[in-house]
Amino acid sequence: MVSRAAAVQPASLALLEVSWSCYRTIRSRWRAWVRRPANPWKVETDMRRRRIYEGKGKVLYEGPEPGTLVQYFKDDAGSFQNEKQGVITGKGVLNNRISEYLMTRIGEIGIPTHFMRRLNMREQLVREVEIIPISLIVRNFAAGSLAERFGLQEGIPLPRSIVEFCLKSDELRDPLVTEEHITAFGWATIQDLDELVQMSLRINDFLSGLFYGTGVKLVDLKLEFGRIWDDDEMRIVLADEISPDSCRLWDLKTNEKLDKDRFRRGLGKVEEGYQEIARRLGVLPEAGPIDMKGPEVMQ
Ligand code: ADP
Ligand code: MG
Repeated sequence: MVSRAAAVQPASLALLEVSWSCYRTIRSRWRAWVRRPANPWKVETDMRRRRIYEGKGKVLYEGPEPGTLVQYFKDDAGSFQNEKQGVITGKGVLNNRISEYLMTRIGEIGIPTHFMRRLNMREQLVREVEIIPISLIVRNFAAGSLAERFGLQEGIPLPRSIVEFCLKSDELRDPLVTEEHITAFGWATIQDLDELVQMSLRINDFLSGLFYGTGVKLVDLKLEFGRIWDDDEMRIVLADEISPDSCRLWDLKTNEKLDKDRFRRGLGKVEEGYQEIARRLGVLPEAGPIDMKGPEVMQ
């Protein structure tokens, strides 16, 4: 005969077991819910393309094909190696268009560039290159650090275009370097340097004329180049961007600054400078791509 106590015990044990398992299921579902990604869309975009690098003005993502990258243009502005930080509303959209336009024109005169095509308002598809860690600055008029270094009045024309080399390094504040440093430390060879200088001077001449036609003086510009390897053959191509972030652009008649110096020097009307350059090049997006009518040529 089964005692009353013995009959009740298995039933309550079974109940306890069921409740425990219910509790565990609910707990694990709750934990999964709590730990769900904050923004499921973000995870999807990150899964679609890997973020490779975030710099001061752009983000680089892995491109859709091997050997390609997506350059995303931000509105962030840093200057004097990030001592001054800020946001220039709409800068990314305009720089994307301006750089697309200038890289395309440069490509048309036979200078190879990394630019493939613009993808949307803020992004462009480019060929992935091995960046040469030296930026080239070509100067036509005295301004910025050159004017300071030699005590020159800003805006005076230089006897000829001057090419300077800077090491790309935020920590070292992009120091000026000589051919000796570049070749001794193996950043580039003498042959590379010859090619870099020739390409930079040609780009500078071409862009000086192009901007002149729209009533803008190209005071100076900073260029970056990279290597592309096809089997064992290496080609140097123009990379990065060309925009009012990387050039000094002054109005031809008034010498008004239409570039990032408006931000660096707190001159105000910063957005307007970028818009004016885009407008003169005919790439200011007012009502979409239909609007883009090509550069406004001055008589
Ligand atoms: P930084 O703060 O270093 O100037 P940016 O915000 O300008 O960075 O982001 C662009 C970065 O991507 C730069 O470091 C530039 O050298 C690099 N870059 C530009 N074009 C290419 C390319 N085609 N392939 C690889 N790297 C590139
Ligand atoms: Mg940069």
